[in-house]
Amino acid sequence: MTLEDRRVRIVDHPLAARLTEVARVERLTPAMVRVTLSGPSLEGFREAAPADHVKLYFAQGDDPVPVAPIVRDDGLDDPPPGAPRPILRDYTIRYFRPDVLELDIDMVLHGDGPGSSFAANAKPGDLVGVLGPRGSVLVPFAFDWYILGCDETGLPALGRWLEALPAGSRAFAYCEVADASEEQELRSDAGVTVTWVHRDGVPAGRCDALEKAVRAFTPPAGDGFAWFGAEATTLKPIRRFLRNELGLPKDHVDVDGYWKAGKADHDHHDGRD
Ligand SMILES: Cc1cc2nc3c(=O)[nH]c(=O)nc-3n(C[C@H](O)[C@H](O)[C@H](O)COP(=O)(O)OP(=O)(O)OC[C@H]3O[C@@H](n4cnc5c(N)ncnc54)[C@H](O)[C@@H]3O)c2cc1C
Repeated sequence: MTLEDRRVRIVDHPLAARLTEVARVERLTPAMVRVTLSGPSLEGFREAAPADHVKLYFAQGDDPVPVAPIVRDDGLDDPPPGAPRPILRDYTIRYFRPDVLELDIDMVLHGDGPGSSFAANAKPGDLVGVLGPRGSVLVPFAFDWYILGCDETGLPALGRWLEALPAGSRAFAYCEVADASEEQELRSDAGVTVTWVHRDGVPAGRCDALEKAVRAFTPPAGDGFAWFGAEATTLKPIRRFLRNELGLPKDHVDVDGYWKAGKADHDHHDGRD
């Protein structure tokens, strides 16, 4: 396997804002809701990689129609003075079914916040906007092994990772959740070792259980790739461990702060936003 076979590529998608309708709502676990969005605007929707994500935008006040962002060729424009600003939050594309134009988004119920509140109250017919995805990070499935990790917010992407990895590949998945009731069944054709880590009463974002579990990882021979999506502060020592102690090259470590404890609408930059 050459270095070229292991080159991570980024592809851009045309940016579009689409108005969709909630078709179904399913409670996956006590704190995770699957909201299925549908509508003709999903025609032409593209996704290509496990961590692909969109920004949802929500209705505000009494108006059931979400305030849409103003999309330009190269980004978003500010609304005119006095006009309402869209409320945008990042969510992973759990499944997209182009044949029926349905998009599944798995949303954490964590309490306050437009995203969490939308998920808690979502019912068929509700309108929600979908912006993106802006691009995809294509990681080759040519590495000797993968180490993946998440909290509940990264679980949809980790689930996609495991479903995408082909038979014959090897993955080690570390999943931090509140307790056993938040564990989900994970499917894969790859050889996967899953370690569930419970916070057991410690608040999300203030728990070092994921770091402790990851530190016990002994890498197999060969070249590895690391992907993590979870609370930003929790991930800092894990990123250092992967880079400095496991010695993984920068290009083979994608550790993404998906939210930050105490901060609404955490600013997330991963080269596609
Ligand atoms: C690329 C990417 C993909 C993501 N995919 C998903 C996904 O598929 N499913 C999903 O549920 N989330 C996902 N997230 C995380 C999600 O965008 C954040 O949790 C977001 O803050 C939720 O918005 P909100 O309106 O509910 O809360 P905000 O208004 O952003 O925050 C309000 C308060 O809630 C806190 N908070 C935010 N999230 C959590 C949490 N999970 N637990 C505890 N407290 C929290 C904040 O720190 C803040 O104090 C993703 C994030 C990124 C960057």
